[in-house]
Amino acid sequence: MAIPSSFWPQEAAVAGKRDVQKVPYVALYDGRLQGVVSSGSDIERVYVSFFEAGSLDYYCSTNNNRPCGGLRGSPCKHLMSLVGEAAAEYGLEPVARFLRLPGDITALKNVSDLMRRMSSGSQTKDPAGQVFSRFLNYLRYLELAGEPAQPLPEMSWFV
Ligand SMILES: [Zn+2]
Repeated sequence: MAIPSSFWPQEAAVAGKRDVQKVPYVALYDGRLQGVVSSGSDIERVYVSFFEAGSLDYYCSTNNNRPCGGLRGSPCKHLMSLVGEAAAEYGLEPVARFLRLPGDITALKNVSDLMRRMSSGSQTKDPAGQVFSRFLNYLRYLELAGEPAQPLPEMSWFV
């Protein structure tokens, strides 16, 4: 059976570079691994996803703040993509350290290892408001990027 490549974010990590089409925004910020993940089917839609450091609780919602339909007792494919892109951006160990994963994080070999260690969290009802407001800032930067301007330091995750 063919499995959609978006289910296997480790490919992006192996390539060693970010896929900004699929995951335009990823950040380790405010105790959360958070980001914005493009919908696979609708280019107008994005998902706002996060994992909390420590508890590893997670949440995913659309840009209209509707709960993601892919959340059914386990992280959806957006959250998996987010982890893969975070690993590509920051590296496995820094992401594991930020999330305060238990055990020996130097033994992590790939994103699948990382995801396995992150399975202790559960879906939180916490609205994604914080992530969402940063996402709106991000959209503002996208509009700014339409005209030639000085590089913005906040955009450094694109480099
Ligand atoms: Zn989702």
